[in-house]
Amino acid sequence: MSQNKLVIATRNIGKLNEFKKLLNPLNIEVLSLADFPQIGEINENGETFEENALIKAREVTKNAGIISLADDSGLEVDYLQGLPGVISARFAGEPSDDQKNNQKLLKLLTGVPLDKRTARFKCVIAIVKPDGSEFTVEGSCEGFILEEEKGSSGFGYDPLFYVPEYAKTFAQLELEVKNKISHRGKATQKAIKILTKIFNAEVVHSS
Ligand code: IMP
Repeated sequence: MSQNKLVIATRNIGKLNEFKKLLNPLNIEVLSLADFPQIGEINENGETFEENALIKAREVTKNAGIISLADDSGLEVDYLQGLPGVISARFAGEPSDDQKNNQKLLKLLTGVPLDKRTARFKCVIAIVKPDGSEFTVEGSCEGFILEEEKGSSGFGYDPLFYVPEYAKTFAQLELEVKNKISHRGKATQKAIKILTKIFNAEVVHSS
């Protein structure tokens, strides 16, 4: 039944599996854009993470006819007035290239002392139901941008993002630890609370 299905607005297998694992306790069928080939590229032209997450979730719910979840995330560097922000993935141009993005970031911060290299990762998750109701939740994680890369796990800006509480970059942290403290991990925990309410209500409603 459609009430027990959720589509994640992603084609990224890694992201899908991460969400599937986190949503496992809900006992629902978790689908992805791979299950809806009719949904083409979605133009993420919003000016904020929230706008982009909502653009994706609205489009997917409209086309798939079931509840959807979409996330948008990125890095905000205070010295750069919040850049790379919503253009984090394509900061150094397209196609998106993590190494080039990191090099560009380091170049723009050349000579800037550590105490002025404050930054945060942000993630917004949007949930949109077929009846039009919408929910958004946010998670963030504060840190500093190092002067050189450290660590080899993770992706994106992870090797440059230093978390003082752990004295490590995201790329030096175990994935389990990163997932607990990360912007995406925190937003997902909030999203799970909303989804639990939605799906429990629908189970009661339809029985
Ligand atoms: P998206 O929301 O998955 O499209 O991510 C946007 C971009 O933000 C990524 O391509 C990365 O450049 C950056 N980003 C988001 N989350 C992380 C993270 O946890 N670590 C490193 N980079 C990230």
